[in-house]
Amino acid sequence: MKKIKKIALLTSGGDAPGMNAAIRSVVRTADMNQIEVFGAINGFKGLVENDLCALDNTAVANIIQRGGTILKSQRFPEFRELATRQQAAKVMSDEGIDALLVLGGDGSFRGASLLAQIDNIPTIGIPCTIDNDIHGTNYTIGFDTARNTAMEAIDKIRDTAFSHSVNFLVEVMGRTAGFLALDVGIAGGAEYILLPERAEGAETLIHRIQDRTRVRKGSIIVVSESDQPGRSFQIAKQIEKKTGIQYKVCVLGHTQRGGKPSARDRKIASSMGYLAVDALMKGETEKMVAYNAGRYELAAFPDPGLPARCITDFDQFSIARVLAGE
Ligand code: ADP
Repeated sequence: MKKIKKIALLTSGGDAPGMNAAIRSVVRTADMNQIEVFGAINGFKGLVENDLCALDNTAVANIIQRGGTILKSQRFPEFRELATRQQAAKVMSDEGIDALLVLGGDGSFRGASLLAQIDNIPTIGIPCTIDNDIHGTNYTIGFDTARNTAMEAIDKIRDTAFSHSVNFLVEVMGRTAGFLALDVGIAGGAEYILLPERAEGAETLIHRIQDRTRVRKGSIIVVSESDQPGRSFQIAKQIEKKTGIQYKVCVLGHTQRGGKPSARDRKIASSMGYLAVDALMKGETEKMVAYNAGRYELAAFPDPGLPARCITDFDQFSIARVLAGE
């Protein structure tokens, strides 16, 4: 087994609060083990273009509390082409870099896996996305911060909802997975939660509103954006047309991606960064650090043929309905 002396580190895909805490942890763990770390700027693009910067303990000081990623992130579809990945492998070989650590989601791990197949480059991933939708791990960095951000927004919206006796649709992120909507709905005391996993569209919601025995005032419905960000405006119009009841709309959008990472995200990111370096030193490759049932473990990169992880157990959804006083 070749001793790892230099690693490249990059953040790819959507940014997630806690990425910086993971970067800090990787750099400090590597330093303790006499491994140099080079950050690639803007994800795989920086690797291909040899846009690398040496990261030492000082470079990662005072970043644990910052959202976003100091290494920046950019979509780089060119990495799907073999020639582009070969160029990345060449840069790594020219620079004497032995291994790659990738912070990102499904797509980023696919890129890492394909790169690994060129020169047997060891690659390890750290799952980062506010959607918590990666197979093989029950937790992804950024999820807790996003759910706190959305919950706090709902608390603020509630003040107006109560004072003016108006109802709100609060739209949260989540294309195919409703983990964020479900947790935010429960924690924010929502009257109803529209999840992408459940086929019930606005029609079902309208029937529920029509069938209600008492008129709700100042209530909150959490809506997953699904594949149509901003769809809440349309839903509000439909509700008003069919029931005469007004719902104001608040789309939380990118406020959910940014901000100071929560304690949970900082702590999990710190542990995952340490374990990712440890995995490389032990000769592991094409795996990610996962967090399942309260324990860290290494898991295979997700099967690229699978759609993103989503909710399959609706017990929590049923609880939310009871608590909404249906
Ligand atoms: P995420 O990692 O959050 O799923 P993306 O799907 O946007 O985000 O992927 C991030 C980056 O990973 C892409 O911009 C591209 O550089 C790389 N990537 C994604 N899919 C592939 C693929 N099938 N083959 C090679 N590289 C990929």
